[in-house]
Amino acid sequence: MIDIFESTAQARPESVFFSYVNRAGEEMSFTYRQTRLLAAQLARRLRDKGVFPGDMVAVDLPNCPLYVILALAAAYGGFGLVALNHRLTDAEKLTRLLELERCGVRIAHRVDADSEPRLFEQVCNSLLRGDARMGRVDDSLGGVVEDAIHFAERAAHTFDPDHRALIMFTSGTTGKPKGAELTWTNLVEAAQASNRVLSPRSLSRGLWQAVLPFFHVGGFQVLVRSVCSRWPLRIYEGFDAAQVLRDAAELHATHISVVDKMLQDMVRHGGAALGAYQCILLGGGPLNANTVAQALAAKARVFASYGMTETSSQVANTLITSQFTGGLRLLPGYSARIVEPDAEGFGRLALRGPGVFGGYVNARAAFTVDGFFLTGDTAALHEGCLYIRERTADMFVSGGENVYPAEIVDALVRIPGVADAYVFGVPDVRWGRRPAAVVELAPGAPPLSAGIIKDALARRLSRLYIPEQICIVDDMPRTGIGKIDRTACEGLFRQHIDVKKVVL
Ligand code: ATP
Ligand code: MG
Repeated sequence: MIDIFESTAQARPESVFFSYVNRAGEEMSFTYRQTRLLAAQLARRLRDKGVFPGDMVAVDLPNCPLYVILALAAAYGGFGLVALNHRLTDAEKLTRLLELERCGVRIAHRVDADSEPRLFEQVCNSLLRGDARMGRVDDSLGGVVEDAIHFAERAAHTFDPDHRALIMFTSGTTGKPKGAELTWTNLVEAAQASNRVLSPRSLSRGLWQAVLPFFHVGGFQVLVRSVCSRWPLRIYEGFDAAQVLRDAAELHATHISVVDKMLQDMVRHGGAALGAYQCILLGGGPLNANTVAQALAAKARVFASYGMTETSSQVANTLITSQFTGGLRLLPGYSARIVEPDAEGFGRLALRGPGVFGGYVNARAAFTVDGFFLTGDTAALHEGCLYIRERTADMFVSGGENVYPAEIVDALVRIPGVADAYVFGVPDVRWGRRPAAVVELAPGAPPLSAGIIKDALARRLSRLYIPEQICIVDDMPRTGIGKIDRTACEGLFRQHIDVKKVVL
């Protein structure tokens, strides 16, 4: 990480490395030279506060300039980051930190929204005459600048890419979030593998827009990809589809990484900018056929991807075209195995490759004897392409038959007026389990009734697959990153439906 960043900073110090825009449209931009000095200076300051190589620093921030500088400072200073979900309550964050401490992770320092303005100001003040926007390193402060340069140069020589760089939490979709330990080798090699496919050298220039939060691996890896590709990074205070698309047109952004909900918003805003991206990387969850069809109609270059926190984000992707069959090509350096495949070749997916983590800090991870990580997903593998069915635990048996909720979701989102859906099994006296659905209506679409939805499904699915109970909502409960909040959905379903009628 540091070697790549240092070489770019030396080759073109005055080029912009990253810029930031807040919700009000105010901007700040930072050259490689400024970023390098600020990161080295921040690492030095934290060392004065007792943060040494190998220590962990908790970061509790939204996407902001300090996050980028802190990520690089961690590499310069040899310390690791614990990425806390900034949207949690204070009590939840504390519980998470206490759990890490119980598991032997000592937090040497915490950078949060309270300390942020002061720390950032102090670091900027010492180098940039207090105003980063002026865009000049104050060379009259020669001693401080020289010290920071020496620190950066020394750090570049002693940088150990295999130390613990990051503890990143999984999304907590299936239970308590697990803290995955990732090294710079994991992060950088995963980013380089993905860049080989998404940002080939034949592209003469590029710009990454970072709209996913850095406290999720999908967001953090945008930062690492931009360092590796030597392309500038544009970061935002929050996601606003109109602002992001306007900005993309002005700055000629080429790459963006989004989850389904964000792409839905971008499609709704429309405009030529959507079709101008080289790559809209879509990930974080199953593909929504509806969103994909709309994006294709808008001529967007959407790469469907599959990955997880434990693999430093994506391990497979494919550019969606009209010939798309659902197969996602493994990135260079990754291999997959299907454990106990069924007659169709679907089984539990195991993965090996440079981005695959070492283990969790607060849970046991399952690896095969030859080092393949056993994911919780069911997939098939044909000619280097993964076909993801869904989470292994989501499949349930109804009347002796296997039911795959993802297939029902896929049929639901193809019904005009349905934006998204969540399907799960509820206990049933006769069948053991029956599918139930929470359905989100598309904004502005005419209202749909459960009867209309069932009739539409009956044209595509067998009776076994048709949810008996359907709860229709305008807005699906979602987690901060935009993934469907399954626990909240099931709670919502129970509130709306008299489950006693169907429960044993
Ligand atoms: P937790 O592990 O805490 O339950 P999580 O698995 O949602 O939460 P993440 O690491 O953010 O946490 O998400 C990775 C998961 O998202 C994958 O294991 C997979 O289940 C799902 N996923 C990601 N991409 C796809 C895809 N293209 N198709 C289907 N599922 C996907
Ligand atoms: Mg998971």
